[in-house]
Amino acid sequence: MTVALGIPRTRQSAVITDAATLPADRPRTDALVDRFGRAATDLRISLTDKCNLRCTYCMPAEGLPSQPVDALMTADEIRRLVGIAVTTLGVRQVRFTGGEPLLRADLIDIVSACASLPNRPEISLTTNAIGLGSRAGKLAAARLDRLNISLDSLHPDVFALLTRRPFLQRVLDGITAAGDAGFASIKINAVLVRGVNDDQAVELLDWSLRSGHQLRFIEQMPLDADHSWTRDGMVTAAQIRQILSEGFDLTPDSAPRDGAPAELWQVRRPGSDLLLGFVGIIASVTEPFCDDCRRTRLTAEGGVRSCLFSNDETDLLGPMRAGADDETLARLWQGEMWRKTAGHQVNSPDFVQPERTMSAIGG
Ligand code: SAM
Ligand code: SF4
Repeated sequence: MTVALGIPRTRQSAVITDAATLPADRPRTDALVDRFGRAATDLRISLTDKCNLRCTYCMPAEGLPSQPVDALMTADEIRRLVGIAVTTLGVRQVRFTGGEPLLRADLIDIVSACASLPNRPEISLTTNAIGLGSRAGKLAAARLDRLNISLDSLHPDVFALLTRRPFLQRVLDGITAAGDAGFASIKINAVLVRGVNDDQAVELLDWSLRSGHQLRFIEQMPLDADHSWTRDGMVTAAQIRQILSEGFDLTPDSAPRDGAPAELWQVRRPGSDLLLGFVGIIASVTEPFCDDCRRTRLTAEGGVRSCLFSNDETDLLGPMRAGADDETLARLWQGEMWRKTAGHQVNSPDFVQPERTMSAIGG
């Protein structure tokens, strides 16, 4: 069923309706196709909307109202939905996110259960790395494949200003622990905020290259609780490239992008031929990549969203708890993806920011 959004969202009575009937003009395929010829193969699952940071571009200073534990998908429910996604719907990659996924006490069990599925997907985690120190080894043993870690500044004062918490050292310790646990792919995500950390982009890239972790800058999107995003205030992809050119030469990478949100750039010192590594820029606002979007999303409360900027979602958890079989859940999921719009409307004058913040959707 499609539900209107609010914060906090309360579960509608769990009735399985004929919303599970797919429209006649949809091709007969199990894949998560939409009306514009795209198929979603990349699933992002939010495990919780709680977080131990309060990044200014994401969460309100006071946090979000707590969802009761029984409103969230359990580990078994997540495993069942991931099972449907990989065996029936053509999903190949699963990323756990939030809120802060490390706050889920059963995270290791969730990863391990999904890694044990037949047709197992590639499994990754997006995290702020607080508490990763004690769990990186267990996550590796649970067969987590890849880690993305958010880090916006290497300066304790600026980190604390952006996240409203003085925890930089814990994040750095988490990154070290992830490396020690043997993760081959650790990517660092950074959001630049004008006048706060945009003067630190070169330093962040320098640090990432030396650490062997690929850095990706994400354009700030209008998904913050404070509604403080402005087009003039955000640091654009073009401006990020300009700032980085003060320390590096960037050349577009020729490898096919293959649906990846980040555009990759080769990084060299000015005047040198030596390839130092790559930097990614995720230009969701100024250079949108909706035409090749391959993502489908599940909120922590089991709602399917076809886009970060959707205003609707389809509840799977209510029907699942009311006894829906796998086929019905698959059809509900396919129906929501069929309604996916051609692209987000951030650049349209009619754009309305979704009620859910980034932390409540799962970035
Ligand atoms: N708590 C985890 C973390 O920070 O990595 C996972 C969830 S967080 C919502 C996922 C990513 O979204 C982070 O890299 C964060 O920087 C990014 N993010 C949050 N709010 C954003 C916004 N308004 N615009 C762009 N990126 C944002
Ligand atoms: Fe928490 Fe991640 Fe949002 Fe920061 S970006 S407040 S770490 S969910």
